[in-house]
Amino acid sequence: MKSRVIRTTESLCPRCLKKIPAELVEEDGKIKIKKTCNDHGNFEDIYWGNAEHYKWVMGFQNDGNGIENPGTKRDKGCPYDCGLCNGHKSHTVLGIVDVTNRCNLRCPVCFANAGSSKEIYEPSAEKIEKMLKNLRDNKPVPAYAFQFSGGEPTMRDDLPELVRIGRKLGFLYIMVDTNGIRIANDINYLKALKDAGMDSFYLQFDGLDDGIYRKLRGVDLLDKKITAIENCRRIGLKNVVLVVTLVKGINDNQVGGIIKFAAENSDIIKCVNFQPLSFAGKASKIEVKGNRITTYDFINLVENQTRSMIKAKYFYPVPSMMHLSNFVEAYTGIPAVKMSVHPCCGVGTYIIINDDKTYTPINEIVEVDRFFRILKEGAEELRNENSISKRLNAGKLKINAKFLSETIGSIHNPKYRNTILQLLKTGTYDATASFHENALMIGCMHFMDPWNFDTQRVERCTIHYSTPDGRLIPFCSYNALHREGVERGSKKER
Ligand code: SF4
Ligand code: SF4
Repeated sequence: MKSRVIRTTESLCPRCLKKIPAELVEEDGKIKIKKTCNDHGNFEDIYWGNAEHYKWVMGFQNDGNGIENPGTKRDKGCPYDCGLCNGHKSHTVLGIVDVTNRCNLRCPVCFANAGSSKEIYEPSAEKIEKMLKNLRDNKPVPAYAFQFSGGEPTMRDDLPELVRIGRKLGFLYIMVDTNGIRIANDINYLKALKDAGMDSFYLQFDGLDDGIYRKLRGVDLLDKKITAIENCRRIGLKNVVLVVTLVKGINDNQVGGIIKFAAENSDIIKCVNFQPLSFAGKASKIEVKGNRITTYDFINLVENQTRSMIKAKYFYPVPSMMHLSNFVEAYTGIPAVKMSVHPCCGVGTYIIINDDKTYTPINEIVEVDRFFRILKEGAEELRNENSISKRLNAGKLKINAKFLSETIGSIHNPKYRNTILQLLKTGTYDATASFHENALMIGCMHFMDPWNFDTQRVERCTIHYSTPDGRLIPFCSYNALHREGVERGSKKER
């Protein structure tokens, strides 16, 4: 068996969580992660399902600049020093604030271990305001979007009040993570959240068959999910994101069906986010060997289950969007939100929903590679303008003429030219919303667990928990290492 090391990094021992060196090894056409703990022996896991695809994905690595006002210093080394520490390479794109560890379900796959602790973790409204403010204080790019999470955030009756606090602090996009039970049962509570300024739900949605919910969530839930979506429609709440925990042998045959369901309900649903099971929290008890779904496996599930309508090659790594951020930043002169995560963290694509609810992949409307190249060259050209006034006047005009004709050339469907150009020129949330009017995003984020943990990924993370002790902690680091300590140190305060 031929094998060769293609990258070295650091990981965790799955038994004692000690940091240990790790190698990414090309073997059997795949990428594996191999490591040894002096106390617990050798460990090996699949890291990426196809070696050639891994190399293509890695070509999109495009780092951010971190933040100017880190909360901690590099001392013991990543991932112990969160944070954000002065070595972190990305700013916060999405903040997360856990408002409770209580839950009305006992899911065997919960990465947050919700409902299993005897201690209730429930920060006061005043503490939550401080945690939100901490996200807004990031420099030079404050966090504009956050999610209330948990546990199940709708266990708190004062959640609308907490949403109002987020609005007051100037967040542009506020989401609530939910299993959907309360919003299915209590439309007045749902209305109160919308009236307070909540933009969207991140709705746990594992499939279209109750057998799946019995296995993953312990009870039948499909009716509740459908009613939750219906209730959103009744009160005019759009932008719902379906969040699918993808588990081998349980719901990995549902991918195509869920995308079809989302397309048919695209007046309400704007995104489906698939999350292959990460073996952390309660799921750490599940056997990893043979049960890992990698991002490469996921994109092939999509191709196979959509009769090749959405091809695996249509998915691009998240940092490909850095071309867009860099262009907008160079054009406006204002620091832009940057999706500078590691290329192995996530992929995405868009489908455009037609009037009859069929769909067309965006890759068949826009020449994506050419489009990214134009953005990259455009940003470089703008940056090279050496005087600010030149950049603001002649530079912009010059880039406009060339840029407009080239960009239009890469967008084949005239209906989307204006929308996409507007997005490029302003980079605003309004322009993004307009693009999303008829678009459905399909994404996959492969959260890490101690088996496939890679510090080179986590130090580029853009999804950060804001914690009561004043820290910002990257998602995968929080769930693999820090959650228990944070929750223990901050019991119920209300
Ligand atoms: S994950 Fe980021 S904040 Fe945490 S220790 Fe690593 S670099 Fe620092
Ligand atoms: S949450 Fe995990 S998988 Fe997602 S960007 Fe952060 S480190 Fe990567």
